[in-house]
Amino acid sequence: MTIVTFDHVVKRFRQKQGELSRVVTALDGVSIKIPEGDVLGVLGPSGCGKTTFLRMVAGLDTPDSGQILFDNVDLNTIPTRERGVGMVFQEGALMPHWEGWRTVGFFLSLRKRQEEVPERVRRVAEITGIGLEKLLDRKPSQLSGGERQRVGIARALARDPRVFLFDEPFSSLDAKIRAQARVELKRLLYEFPVTSIYVTHDQVEAVALAQHIAVMRAGKIEQIGTYQQLYNSPVNLFVAGFIGTPLINEFQGRVADGHWYGKNFGGYPIRHDLPAEAEVTMGIRPEYIHVADEGVPAIVDQVTPFFAERFQLVDVHQNKEKWAFKVALDEQIPVGSTVHCILDPEGLLFFDTKTGQRIG
Ligand code: ATP
Repeated sequence: MTIVTFDHVVKRFRQKQGELSRVVTALDGVSIKIPEGDVLGVLGPSGCGKTTFLRMVAGLDTPDSGQILFDNVDLNTIPTRERGVGMVFQEGALMPHWEGWRTVGFFLSLRKRQEEVPERVRRVAEITGIGLEKLLDRKPSQLSGGERQRVGIARALARDPRVFLFDEPFSSLDAKIRAQARVELKRLLYEFPVTSIYVTHDQVEAVALAQHIAVMRAGKIEQIGTYQQLYNSPVNLFVAGFIGTPLINEFQGRVADGHWYGKNFGGYPIRHDLPAEAEVTMGIRPEYIHVADEGVPAIVDQVTPFFAERFQLVDVHQNKEKWAFKVALDEQIPVGSTVHCILDPEGLLFFDTKTGQRIG
């Protein structure tokens, strides 16, 4: 298994816009060490550099500056054929450094000598249940979308890659097949651990598959951690807002006498070193807001049941502020009624409004 290191990697692209051209920084000094056997999920909004990050690991693009290492060896010095990178994209498997004929050739040669098929290849076929026939066959065009992805993954794994890259591999599959494919991939990576990077828009998928998650924005990695770390201790407002559904509530406010005050809520102790009147945004997730007999009154705008997760989400407003909180499914909360809300101090997160950085 391989340790992948990015050391201050920068990648820029020149984009033409009619007569003009502009430079886009796709990776803006990315540094990360992916431990061997780790499955790293990469999350971030469209255009933040996720695919560029993957393409760099695959050696499909080279950095403008900075270094990428496999173990302690500069990726540039490893001949492309020896990099052993397996890739599965939305549209199917691709192994850039094992040209098509070699990949198919590998499986075709196995097909001719089926009794010599390595145990690893047999086992991958067994776990995926796709059968040796399909794994060794050369005609992916006859497969369904779901099968094609599974065959692609199985083939890449059967080749014993050093690093495995996934770019939204299941995004074109329907929900049921997608969930199955996810479980299968998890079992495969458990049995055949490979250092993997998994790019997705889908937090549920990232949580299901990845051991660690990197959140990217505008070519930078904002935070790396387990999902719980990102959820409970976001380093800034961007990560707090990006991770977690339903969304975190944000309240604008100011500091006075060592306490935070907003439009509706206030009086919560905050770090002492902040100047009076400092602008601070308070974040609190919907499960930390409770209905009580007394508290801040709010008018109910909408109640949405989430049956599988066993809660209802209640959207409310007051004084031109909106927030949402969770209640049990059997709680009766009519739209238009007034509820009283209190905040659980355990769930309070404070951010510098100007920089977005977490300050408490
Ligand atoms: P998405 O989630 O939409 O796939 P992404 O996070 O994968 O986006 P990238 O595809 O890595 O983002 O792109 C990052 C930035 O670099 C974008 O602004 C994109 O337009 C630009 N970019 C990427 N590849 C090229 C290229 N070959 N030429 C010019 N610009 C590019």
